[in-house]
Amino acid sequence: MTAAPANHGSVTVREILVELDRALNDHMVWLKVWHRALLCAESPGARGWADAPGDLGRFGAWYVRNQHKGLVNQPAIRDLASLHREMHERARALVLSTQAGTPVPRKDYDAFMDTAASFVTHTRRLEKAFARASSDLDPLTGLHNRQVMSRELERERARALRADRPCCFALADLDHFKAVNDTHGHAVGDRVLVATAECFLTALRPYDTVYRYGGEEFLLCLPDAPADVARRILERVLGELRTKPITIQEGRTLSITCSFGVAQVDTDATVEETVKRADQALYQAKNEGRDRVCVWRGAAEAETPS
Ligand code: GH3
Ligand code: MG
Ligand code: MG
Repeated sequence: MTAAPANHGSVTVREILVELDRALNDHMVWLKVWHRALLCAESPGARGWADAPGDLGRFGAWYVRNQHKGLVNQPAIRDLASLHREMHERARALVLSTQAGTPVPRKDYDAFMDTAASFVTHTRRLEKAFARASSDLDPLTGLHNRQVMSRELERERARALRADRPCCFALADLDHFKAVNDTHGHAVGDRVLVATAECFLTALRPYDTVYRYGGEEFLLCLPDAPADVARRILERVLGELRTKPITIQEGRTLSITCSFGVAQVDTDATVEETVKRADQALYQAKNEGRDRVCVWRGAAEAETPS
């Protein structure tokens, strides 16, 4: 699957970005205060003077709280956390030796400043990487967005035609979704969208891809599947949606349905035209009563569901 849902163990890319930005700002201030305290020989109580052992400030506390959660639990962030710890430990050692009246060896000061510089560089690099990743993701569902979709569908179409393998695009549109918002509120509507994305990802094959197409519409790319196989796969997804109501709050569930329109990739149609065909089949699925899969069979012939 291309993308896991955004809320990895409840720490989103957005939250990480906020935390990294805060860490940079906090440490710029901290460095200034720390130097001033040292150079101006401020009293030990002055802020920025000597941290208590193990006190790693706001960023340190955030990391300890979240270190085992999805996106935080990865080598690049672990490296940043250990640089952070090393920087504070070096700072503390320098302060303690100054307090004891021992001149700070130049190499120790340089080592501290090098660690602080690495911390800043590493944080900036991570910020860039997360910002790049988040611009490809739909912030609500964590699925890849439409921009990524356009690039990837071109590649999938080219691959299928070159290898002479079937491939289907399917458009999914939640049924009567406006009523969900109207009855339960927009926040519940959002939760339903997230749960639907998760249901798609769970019920599809590992190499299928789901994109947030817009609003309550999703696009699914099903490689190596001719139209009849795509239909079977999507009917399984419909079965999952029917049998697994979505929990909207403690003790309350909501059943939703969805309609699918499918079009098989073909030499005679561009990606855009294939998506348009899927949209026509979706329109037919809606007209025929929703909660079903319709396959585009040609301009003149519109297939009815079995
Ligand atoms: P149909 O079965 O014909 O598809 O009916 P529908 O009510 O699903 O279709 P309609 O196009 O009338 O309404 C779609 C609704 O989806 C309206 C819009 O407010 C809602 N919607 C779009 N994007 C979001 C979103 O991100 N969050 C929430 N909560 N609602 C959204
Ligand atoms: Mg719609
Ligand atoms: Mg709809």
